[in-house]
Amino acid sequence: MTGHTHSGTASAAARAPKLTRNQSLVLDSLAKAEFPLSAYTILDQLREEGFRAPLQVYRALDKLLEYGLIHRLESLNAFIACAHPHHQEHGHLHGIAAFAICDKCGLASEFTEPEIEDCVQHWTQKNHFHPTKTTLEIRGLCASCAHN
Ligand SMILES: [Zn+2]
Ligand SMILES: [Zn+2]
Repeated sequence: MTGHTHSGTASAAARAPKLTRNQSLVLDSLAKAEFPLSAYTILDQLREEGFRAPLQVYRALDKLLEYGLIHRLESLNAFIACAHPHHQEHGHLHGIAAFAICDKCGLASEFTEPEIEDCVQHWTQKNHFHPTKTTLEIRGLCASCAHN
C-alpha cells in the first residue's frame, strides 16, 4: 500500500497553471493544511485576501474538484488537496480516491490501490452501472492514535 499524508503538497498550486487568483488561494490553503478543511474554515483563512462570501469559496472549490486537484470528504463535509495532482499533467484523472481518516487526530491519508479499482470496475461493469465519482472513506484510528 502506498500511503502519504498531505503535509508535503504545498507546491500543488505551482503545478496548476490556469487557475484564477481565488482558485489558487483556496488550493493553497488546502495544500498547506495538515487536516481537511471545511468551506467556512477556508473562508475565515482567506478574509485577509478579500474573500467575503461563502459563494466565492464554493465556486473555487467546484472548479478545483472538477480539475481533480482537490477531493471532497463526504463524511466530514470537508475538502483536501489531492496527494498526487501531478496525475493531471498526463491528462487523466486518477481513479478511485481512497482516504483513511483518523477520528481522533483528524489526519486524512489519501492512498490508491489498483485492486480496489479493479474490484469496483468489475462490479459496475457486471451491473451496467455507470459511475461518475467514487470516493472511499475509511474512518477509524491512525497508527499513532491507535497506540496511544
Ligand atoms: Zn487524489
Ligand atoms: Zn490519529
